[in-house]
Amino acid sequence: MSALSELILRRIRAVGPMSLAEFMHEALLHPRFGYYTTRDPLGAQGDFVTAPEVSQAFGELIGLWCADTWMRLGRPDPVLLVELGPGRGTLMQDALGAAARVPDFRRALRLHLVESSKTLRAAQRKRLGDAKIAWHDDLGSVPEGPMIAIANEFLDALPIVQLERGAAGWHERLVTLAADGETLVLARAAAPSALAALVPPELQRSAPGSIFEGRPAAAALAAELGRRLATAPGAALCIDYGHAQKACGDTLQAVRRHRPCGIFDEPGAADLTAHVDFASFAEAARAAGAHTHGPVTQRDFLRRLGIEARMAQLLARAAPEQRETIATAVRRLIDPAEMGTLFKVLALTSAGLPAPDGFSEQVP
Ligand code: SAH
Repeated sequence: MSALSELILRRIRAVGPMSLAEFMHEALLHPRFGYYTTRDPLGAQGDFVTAPEVSQAFGELIGLWCADTWMRLGRPDPVLLVELGPGRGTLMQDALGAAARVPDFRRALRLHLVESSKTLRAAQRKRLGDAKIAWHDDLGSVPEGPMIAIANEFLDALPIVQLERGAAGWHERLVTLAADGETLVLARAAAPSALAALVPPELQRSAPGSIFEGRPAAAALAAELGRRLATAPGAALCIDYGHAQKACGDTLQAVRRHRPCGIFDEPGAADLTAHVDFASFAEAARAAGAHTHGPVTQRDFLRRLGIEARMAQLLARAAPEQRETIATAVRRLIDPAEMGTLFKVLALTSAGLPAPDGFSEQVP
């Protein structure tokens, strides 16, 4: 049994069942045994692969999107370039490389990375060479001012709570002990929960047994981004897998070495994520004063930004034996059977700005 399982079992024996959000937080970010604290999980050798690790075209197009958005914002100087959960720093490395084509933007930007893991901060430092970087544990300590923020596969790692519809209301699903006293299980609390307020009105009357996932940390982040965008010109781009409409469903998943596993198999050694509820996130950002655009599918977004033309350039330059790899990688990002439609892109902007690049209705 892992050290973290032992800690969690002891805590539940002492003080009773734990909320799923608290469990997820411990499993991912525990200062000694958390998943992200103890490893670099990305890439073919790790547990999962993200879009910037699939193809350099992803980060490059986002870098150009940032430069274009900066011009639409009226070229604020300085401008904060914030990335939430930068992983290995690959997206930012490719984005900065592409942004160098707009030298005024490259000079104006100040890099702020929100990253809780020391291991990944070290990887980011290495990837980003001599770029000046300020790291933060959360968005709260990033200075105020004009801002462009990026979050790729960050929201899906924020902790969720699960509520299950019972005969008389919604009950929280809690992490507790099985009858053997040694195994963790999810079990529905006996009494209805005050968290029922998280369930949107249109889903309140769902069939008994339905599960709704709420994400208080994402709502808080949306509100903070919204407040900043209402105070100073800016934009935020959130890319993740999830659903555009609010819906019921149990989407919590654990992944290890590219394979699904049980969420309690080995807390701290597997990635835990759940679908992003883009509608709720956008609503929370709007309530705080931001405008929202999309979500659009990753396929539409990247094609509107010109991923096919970028692929053609890369292919023209590549050695023959690299060509298939490049084409396969780009296909993986935009193919509906792969990341193309499950992944979605939402933009938040200050009020009064036109839709950013990639969010108009036109599909090339
Ligand atoms: N954006 C990267 C990595 C995604 S993995 C990519 O696309 O490859 C999630 C990232 O978010 C990791 O860097 C992880 O350490 C970080 N992270 C997860 N939860 C966090 C939190 N609550 N606060 C700060 N960083 C967090």
